[in-house]
Amino acid sequence: MKIKMQNPIAEMDGDEMTRVIWRMVKATLLEPYVGLNTEYFDLGLTHRNDTDDQVTVQSAEAAKRLRVAVKCATITPNRQRMEEFPELKQMWKSANGTIRAILDGTVFRAPIVLRCVKPSVRTWEAPITIARHAYGDVYSGVECYVGEKNTAELVIKSETGDVLQTIQTQTVDSPAVWRIMHNKDSSIEAFARSCFGYAAATKQDLWFSTKDTISKIYDGRFKDIFAQIYESDFKAEFARLGIEYFYTLIDDAVARVMRSRGGFIWALKNYDGDVMSDMVSTAFGSLAMMTSVLVSPDGNFLYEAAHGTVTRHYYRYLQGEETSTNAVATIFAWTGALAKRGELDGNAELTAFAKSVEKATLDTIESGTMTRDLAGIAEPGLAVKTVATQEFLNAVKARLEI
Ligand code: NAP
Ligand code: MG
Repeated sequence: MKIKMQNPIAEMDGDEMTRVIWRMVKATLLEPYVGLNTEYFDLGLTHRNDTDDQVTVQSAEAAKRLRVAVKCATITPNRQRMEEFPELKQMWKSANGTIRAILDGTVFRAPIVLRCVKPSVRTWEAPITIARHAYGDVYSGVECYVGEKNTAELVIKSETGDVLQTIQTQTVDSPAVWRIMHNKDSSIEAFARSCFGYAAATKQDLWFSTKDTISKIYDGRFKDIFAQIYESDFKAEFARLGIEYFYTLIDDAVARVMRSRGGFIWALKNYDGDVMSDMVSTAFGSLAMMTSVLVSPDGNFLYEAAHGTVTRHYYRYLQGEETSTNAVATIFAWTGALAKRGELDGNAELTAFAKSVEKATLDTIESGTMTRDLAGIAEPGLAVKTVATQEFLNAVKARLEI
């Protein structure tokens, strides 16, 4: 008897090697055990192009309606991809960007910790989850270069064109670069709520850090909004759960993180999160061993792998090679979504199944059966058997049925 799902999840299919793995994971580890109930959206580049990218918008709306979604990695076209896919009507925007703009969320990334792959920071025992604000700052800033001595004035107007503020900036005595950037109260509030909510849901401490000593107004605004929302809406809940909210300067946070045991969430502004998430994931082992979930402030959850479509492996696959691509992040995207669906629907059987797939996956690796990327970083002394992706999934399936 297969496990039933009362409510569907939004399923967003993707591109290249991850699209291949997507099918393998479903066929080997999910469909034999669960009556999968999904609303399917094909976000493969060809279909995004055929639908003028409307399928991406529809899939995000489904994620909002169904509250749980699982997404495969997708190609973000660049100039090179435009040559590779001459049929593209335009250089479509990143599907993740479009989905994030609709869901207005925060991305939480946590390493999947193994005993047989030790983090390069010796004190880290438990995962460090990075919560990255995904709106504004330098990512939607305006920049320019002026090739002579110059002075700039910033004029800010209201919706109707009235001048609200005129700010005299520096006069510079040489050619210079300039940048203007912004962030919105509404987005910072949504970021704060997602972080506090996720910390409560996963019962972990929340750290937040900016450079508010230097950037008193800009970073100060982030600090103040976090503090206000914590005081008014989360302090009591944190006390009840025995978890803490901790604000500190980013330099101090970096030093503390390096000495910590891990096991907390570190919230960061957009750029800081972009950089720190790569450092933390690399120090824990591999991008293929990271979970990634987009949490919206109104409680919608989109699970995905943190890595891309693994193009290099896909070209080898197209030539008939059986590749040893790591499927763990894709497996955990599915189990994350199924466990959340089970939790929201009161379907304990579904949640328990998802957890047992995760355990079987980790036990398979700890027993020595793993893909090539992990074989290269496993602790010496373990008898390692390097396998292709399908063989790895078969080994997980065999464990699942014990
Ligand atoms: P990538 O797909 O993450 O792959 C970069 C390299 O990392 C691979 O060549 C491989 O190294 C290694 N790797 C990544 N995932 C792996 C896995 N599961 N198992 C084993 N090795 C893995 O990044 P990319 O090549 O920069 O990007 C490819 C495409 O993905 C781009 O079109 C980009 O737009 C897209 N992308 C999508 C998302 C998303 O949808 N969330 C995110 C990032 C990138 P080796 O070749 O050395 O084995
Ligand atoms: Mg980065």
